[in-house]
Amino acid sequence: MSATIEITRIEKSKIASVDFNNLPFGSVFSDHMLTCTYKNGKWESPVIVPYAPIALDPSAKIFHYGQSIFEGMKAYKDAKGNTLLFRPLENCKRLNKSAERLVIPQIPEDVFMQGLKELLKVDDAWIPTNEGSSLYIRPFMFASGNGFHASPADEYKLMICTAPSGAYFAGKVNVLIEEKYARAANGGVGFAKAGGNYAAQFYPTQLAIEKGYNQVIWTDDNTHEYIEEAGAMNIFVRINDTLLTSPTNDRILDGITRKSILQLAEDLDIAVEVRKISVAEVVIAAQSGTLKEMFGTGTAAVISPITGFGFQEKDYELPTLEMPFASILKKAITDIQTNKSEDLHGWRV
Ligand code: PMP
Repeated sequence: MSATIEITRIEKSKIASVDFNNLPFGSVFSDHMLTCTYKNGKWESPVIVPYAPIALDPSAKIFHYGQSIFEGMKAYKDAKGNTLLFRPLENCKRLNKSAERLVIPQIPEDVFMQGLKELLKVDDAWIPTNEGSSLYIRPFMFASGNGFHASPADEYKLMICTAPSGAYFAGKVNVLIEEKYARAANGGVGFAKAGGNYAAQFYPTQLAIEKGYNQVIWTDDNTHEYIEEAGAMNIFVRINDTLLTSPTNDRILDGITRKSILQLAEDLDIAVEVRKISVAEVVIAAQSGTLKEMFGTGTAAVISPITGFGFQEKDYELPTLEMPFASILKKAITDIQTNKSEDLHGWRV
């Protein structure tokens, strides 16, 4: 299906006011946004309009029952000025998986892809060209239909906004292994990118920050004996020369960076085990010196090394390595994303 996308261009671009050498993450927005409305049982044609506030009824169900999901992806410019996306269909498929769980209608993949590409063409000048910079893309869907009845809405919107973002340097990342709170539960919505999952993370994260940590390592809700995610990223642990990551389940987001890193590790002959990782084995490995690395993977920071962790009132430091897997794998994935290396798996679009 090829939809006609009506485009209303901004009268005066804001781009001259943006310092592309000094970009924050996700708080400077490009000139345009895409909106597609679901009404009377079907999706209407998408429209591209100037980025601006939207009007919603106070009884819109998004405000009361939290039917809201989102995605995060990036567009890059290569040395020749081509615009590149990384595995964008995976984001569309995951958006629809989240939609199913939250009873939000499925967005046809061709409508999503066509709309996204058109928006990127309209705001082409907003895609940064500096090393490490990219255009962060935020597609989201929510219940715009109204009523206080606690049931799914009859109207929805898909919107896509974009934000040019600079390279991400985290510095020291000290994390706290969570023993009380959980971000997700069996049978729940942890595997979906539902807005409410993030709202539920804020309070335990705030408590960890008050204790001097940067982020929470989520453990399983039932026993808190197994580590599952790092903040809003998937987690990898390196013990000796083996890289470990938890298998995905009801509680873990099936990260696109995670599965790409698993493939690249295999390509690079790095030993990988996808299995449950117990807190006890991580603590023992830290004590015996076999714990070499821990890092989070996700679209925003790509790979974010963890420099230390806290558990049961004790703090553990990770060693500083000359050539960590985190750096090798980050280079491998970003080289593919930015067209600096061969795309063996057909991930670039
Ligand atoms: N886990 C959670 C909870 C996340 O929000 C994200 C970010 N989307 C990830 C993992 C990483 O997923 P991806 O690599 O697809 O960005």
